[in-house]
Amino acid sequence: MKGEKKTKIVKSIRIDVDKCNGCRACEVICSSFHAIPKYSSNNPARSRIRIIREPLTDIYVPVYAGEYAVAECAGRDKYTIDGKEYEECAFCRASCPSRPEFKEPDSGLPLKCDMCEGEDEPLCVKWCLAEALIYEEREVEVDDVVEQAELEIGLDSLADKYGMDSIMDAVARMADKG
Ligand code: SF4
Ligand code: SF4
Repeated sequence: MKGEKKTKIVKSIRIDVDKCNGCRACEVICSSFHAIPKYSSNNPARSRIRIIREPLTDIYVPVYAGEYAVAECAGRDKYTIDGKEYEECAFCRASCPSRPEFKEPDSGLPLKCDMCEGEDEPLCVKWCLAEALIYEEREVEVDDVVEQAELEIGLDSLADKYGMDSIMDAVARMADKG
């Protein structure tokens, strides 16, 4: 069935790797904003942005938490930057069964950047004094029916993996967050 066209705002953050100085303020504010209750703690292990660090050569690469992947992918990528080879999947954004990144440390539930829903600008962007993170918005046309189908597939996958009780518990805690 063909869906109706509508428009939505796509939010994105452009990353200027050359400007990142590895201060990790973005990890601190992200985990603090998403703490329950809000701002009650900061634990970068819960952050939805990670800084891949190579302090000896001053290389710092911010990576945002992306989609939840129900199974690990068949491909692998390796990066070499300034002669250093990084681990497989080091820069991947997925919350994936093959590695611990972008998962809540206690529940194991996947973490995904939500662009600091409710804020006028993502907090990691505000806190990045080096201006390595640049917030951008653009309007695009989307197909309503396709979006709904994707949402249902995503929920089914999470429920299969973690059980519906865990999902409902996480949703309840998010609602409490206020
Ligand atoms: S706040 Fe900015 S400069 Fe600091 S680690 Fe994050 S992206 Fe890099
Ligand atoms: S936009 Fe918000 S949720 Fe996403 S990484 Fe930055 S602080 Fe975290």
